[in-house]
Amino acid sequence: MKLYEGNMYWPKTKKSIKYDSLNADIDTDIAIIGAGMSGILCGYELAKRGHEVVLVEAEEIAKGSSSANTGLLQYSSDKMLYEFIDELGKENAVLFYRMCHEAMKDLKALSEKLPERGDFVTRNSLYLASKIEDITKLKKEYKALLENDFPVEYIDSKALETDYGIKGTEAMLTKEDAEVNPYKFILEISEEAVRLGLDIFENSKVLDIDKSDDCFIIKTKDGSIKAKKLVYATGYKANDYSEIKDGEINRTYALATEPISGDSWKDRCLIWETARPYFYARMTEDNRIILGGEDEEKDSVTNSEEKLQKNTLKLLEKLTNLFPHIETKIEYSWNAVFGESDDGIPFIGQDTDDKDVYYCLGFGGNGTVYSMAGSKIIADLIEGKSNKYAHIVSLDRQG
Ligand SMILES: Cc1cc2nc3c(=O)[nH]c(=O)nc-3n(C[C@H](O)[C@H](O)[C@H](O)COP(=O)(O)OP(=O)(O)OC[C@H]3O[C@@H](n4cnc5c(N)ncnc54)[C@H](O)[C@@H]3O)c2cc1C
Repeated sequence: MKLYEGNMYWPKTKKSIKYDSLNADIDTDIAIIGAGMSGILCGYELAKRGHEVVLVEAEEIAKGSSSANTGLLQYSSDKMLYEFIDELGKENAVLFYRMCHEAMKDLKALSEKLPERGDFVTRNSLYLASKIEDITKLKKEYKALLENDFPVEYIDSKALETDYGIKGTEAMLTKEDAEVNPYKFILEISEEAVRLGLDIFENSKVLDIDKSDDCFIIKTKDGSIKAKKLVYATGYKANDYSEIKDGEINRTYALATEPISGDSWKDRCLIWETARPYFYARMTEDNRIILGGEDEEKDSVTNSEEKLQKNTLKLLEKLTNLFPHIETKIEYSWNAVFGESDDGIPFIGQDTDDKDVYYCLGFGGNGTVYSMAGSKIIADLIEGKSNKYAHIVSLDRQG
């Protein structure tokens, strides 16, 4: 499955780091398949805890969906807390949101260990009511977040116009969110993880896996890994291996503008909205605007230049409607597939049949936050420790 198509921005921002391919038969305790955000965070966490870990990647590190990622990090999910409360009950819904809020803090702490912090910057998120009827929804969500001690503020139409220059609606501001350059973040984490003992092999596609005598033999073209535990961090390609079926793949569009010279918007906050699918915007470290949205119910990318241009121009038009003072042009544009689970919760945890197999799959708009939470959950499960969030995201959760 092709994960994206177009002219990507993040890979232009940092020189790639090369790792060897696997060309020997090696032994380890834990093998992780896939070196995107999920695989690198699992590898880092396990190496930090002193485990012997090997990370194996079919292509280049950080060049899967993680490099198409627009890098908005938020504790709020695509599904609002009050909606989760209706579906999961208050205890589990709040626990799930706490998991994401805690993961935000962990991402920040990790960024502080990196030489350039993966361009991580703490930001607020402005969550706009897309239409007047959605204001009720937004107020309900604000109340649910506030009652459960999440950092949030309500912005009425007057304040929204005065402070942000946005007219005719209301918004909610969630705090302690962040922006990141996902490509740079992964590469910087990889160097830190290697220092902690992680072995990384690129250009080494896993072709076959056998299990005998309680050990996995993971075969690539020129080598093999013998491992006691196996973690799948294969992203949206997960279905090649697993029985995970309660998800769907859609297509989404994104762009990065040329650097802008004038003002952008207050505090360079992340912007998104209540409509589904939603439009979203953020700034980059070099003063570009990244926009995303225009999702389509298609399970593959398009290589039509015309379609890409049409959809990204629609995104730019939405920006201009919001901020007429911003004049800019598209410099990078891409489309990508995007995985979501039916219940809005990622798939993280132990295989239902084989206790030595684990999954950390970045399904959902909040994929990076889920990958971070997943790395801690999987490390705890591997160590036989309890984890208070594991039952919510587990593969055998009750839907
Ligand atoms: C356009 C777009 C915008 C997004 N925006 C955001 C955002 O703003 N914030 C956010 O948090 N999330 C966002 N996401 C989601 C985010 O990108 C994903 O959650 C994240 O990339 C998933 O990381 P991953 O490591 O699970 O997958 P990937 O990055 O795809 O990594 C999986 C890796 O596994 C490798 N692999 C697969 N099969 C094998 C095999 N057989 N052998 C060896 N290796 C294998 C692949 O080559 C790949 O490199 C966005 C996604 C898209 C597409």
